[in-house]
Amino acid sequence: MKPASFSYLLPKTVPEAVKMIAEHSGDARFIAGGQSLVPMMNFRLARPSVLIDLNRIPDLSYIKDRGDYIAVGAMTRERMIENSDIVRDMCPLVHDATLNIAHLPIRSRGTIGGSISNADPAAEYPATMLALDAFMVAKSERGEREIGAADFFDGVLSTSLEADEILTEVRIPKAPANSGSAFIEISRRQGDYALAGIAAQVTLDDDENIIGIQLAACGVGPGPVRLNQVEDGVRGTTLTAEILSNAKEAATAAVDPEGDVHATAAYRRKLTGVMTERALRKAVLRAVGKK
Ligand SMILES: Cc1cc2nc3c(=O)[nH]c(=O)nc-3n(C[C@H](O)[C@H](O)[C@H](O)COP(=O)(O)OP(=O)(O)OC[C@H]3O[C@@H](n4cnc5c(N)ncnc54)[C@H](O)[C@@H]3O)c2cc1C
Repeated sequence: MKPASFSYLLPKTVPEAVKMIAEHSGDARFIAGGQSLVPMMNFRLARPSVLIDLNRIPDLSYIKDRGDYIAVGAMTRERMIENSDIVRDMCPLVHDATLNIAHLPIRSRGTIGGSISNADPAAEYPATMLALDAFMVAKSERGEREIGAADFFDGVLSTSLEADEILTEVRIPKAPANSGSAFIEISRRQGDYALAGIAAQVTLDDDENIIGIQLAACGVGPGPVRLNQVEDGVRGTTLTAEILSNAKEAATAAVDPEGDVHATAAYRRKLTGVMTERALRKAVLRAVGKK
């Protein structure tokens, strides 16, 4: 299939892109890596009359250490994140999550900003940003605002970005000392979207009690799902077989997925429990290994 016809704009700076989206607000879409948008346009599921290409804005591609958090520019390719020492050392959950995204050619084009703005419920980055309490920076002609992940994702392929806003940066808190993390998912084939996946980060005290826990799921709701009740049951404990089993049960009960051609709702719910157990165990082992 071919897309419906559209006008094509190529800004060189963020202010230019902001001006263009303001002028065509409602009709225009940004294109980043094009890995989600182009197929949608080819199937005529998206028919923007104006396409604003962000690929000639070098200022949107970077990974920077900013003290308490790392800042990742919206046009940073998934592959660059995968290969970044800063990400691997300071936000290892993001590194882990990236390894689960699609295939190398897709990660070489796909961007963090595109993935987060696209907000596919099965995508790894939205769940990871929700688990890590990351912030998204949005710009428009009205100014700049920072949106917490809990307020950013608001349904299937839907975010709280306004039609005239561009996502410019993602701010991801660094992993605390004595922490460990894991991203675990099940997909039908290597590189497919997850049927269910879990992003987990735990922080231990000197006696290996879990003093911090952050858990979110993908593929099992209209958007990423924070597993607050599971976190409450694990926080303040040490990881025993009983705690793991309770966490598995709580995670299974916490989600309300829909079934589709890939998996039934019951199977996705069951996977959520199993993935939670595996991710928690791996995250704690990694945290213990670091001490
Ligand atoms: C075969 C295949 C398998 C895949 N498997 C996975 C997978 O397992 N996990 C996964 O997470 N993803 C997967 N993807 C998607 C891939 O990761 C995409 O790269 C990603 O979802 C979108 O990023 P992009 O840069 O290509 O965005 P685009 O496709 O260019 O844009 C996506 C949407 O975001 C908007 N947008 C882009 N940038 C901005 C911005 N800065 N500000 C505001 N809006 C913006 C666009 O207007 C569009 O609506 C897969 C894709 C394919 C083709």
